[in-house]
Amino acid sequence: MRRSTTDEVLILRWNQVRDRIKAADAVGILLGGGADLRYLTDYDAMPLERITALVGRTMAGNEPPTLIVPELEEARVRTRPSVYAVHTWDDTTDSVTTIASALPQRGRIMVSDNLWALHVLGLQRHSPNLEFVPISEAVGGLRSIKNPIERDALAAVGALADKVAAQIQNGEIPLVGRTEAEIADDIANRLVAVGHDTVEFVIVASGPNSASPHHDPGSRTVRPGEIVLFDFGGQFEGFCSDTTRCVHTGPVPAEVLAAYEVLTTAQEAAVQAAQPGCPLAEVDLAARRIISAGGYGDYFIHRIGHGIGAEIHEHPYVTELNTAPVQIGHAFSIEPGIYIPDQWGMRLEDIVVIEADGARRCNNSNRALVEV
Ligand code: ZN
Ligand code: ZN
Ligand code: ZN
Repeated sequence: MRRSTTDEVLILRWNQVRDRIKAADAVGILLGGGADLRYLTDYDAMPLERITALVGRTMAGNEPPTLIVPELEEARVRTRPSVYAVHTWDDTTDSVTTIASALPQRGRIMVSDNLWALHVLGLQRHSPNLEFVPISEAVGGLRSIKNPIERDALAAVGALADKVAAQIQNGEIPLVGRTEAEIADDIANRLVAVGHDTVEFVIVASGPNSASPHHDPGSRTVRPGEIVLFDFGGQFEGFCSDTTRCVHTGPVPAEVLAAYEVLTTAQEAAVQAAQPGCPLAEVDLAARRIISAGGYGDYFIHRIGHGIGAEIHEHPYVTELNTAPVQIGHAFSIEPGIYIPDQWGMRLEDIVVIEADGARRCNNSNRALVEV
């Protein structure tokens, strides 16, 4: 069971969001179901065509936002008058009209990136004086700046994932002779056993399968003398872990070891580059330059990282193209990889949170290519 978020925390978040809405020259916010709505209300809406929405307005002083819910789901909503007002609609009312009546009459409205087109397009037709902009475009993600408590929560869940990484590295989890799928099930059970509330995903990619970054663990049996890549994560009290480690079943060939040294050097350079004010693109490029100089530039085929928090992938995305600055409170992965098709692949992933003096790692298991 997820522990509920206190009214105080929710009010603090809404006040921060309201300031960001104002700073982005918007007059309101409209969130559909999902992590953004949970972030401000702690309410987990059913992802159905009957819309649940949160409408927040900036102009009316300190009024709390309005949670608009289908009447038949009202019983699921906790009464929290200082956090939100509840407004219901039933099947004889038009949801678009209900939401439009809660929104301001004109101006910019920030909408959650995953609001259904059905609802946005309906509102656009209904209220031509409103301009709808995705939150990510307006402020780079509603939840992208983590407060100190949220940063500690990411460090705590990261430490749980590290326990399972250590079990892999110290040989506690048998590999050779088992299929990827069996090992993945084992890891999933261990993620919960060490304290995660849920398992989000487990990748086990052995031998040539490790060259596919998002390989689905399958029926291949792990053999002696090959690389095995593990990437996994779960949730604890609403925050996600995500870490990648590789091990080698038996002695590591010189070629693989050389590449792995390039990889660890690149990852460390990216962590060092992640200073407040530095463009996010520079974090990616710091690693990419080293991997290119090592001769593997063509084999680092993805961005270096993604934001993380209530969801495994969220803003900010750390790509060569994202020139927005690293900010105190950002939380993202730093996960360079080298993938030689049909041969082997490797990736090293830690979550970092950004403090005033730079990146603090939430993952601290051994970063070497351990022989098991
Ligand atoms: Zn991924
Ligand atoms: Zn990962
Ligand atoms: Zn990741």
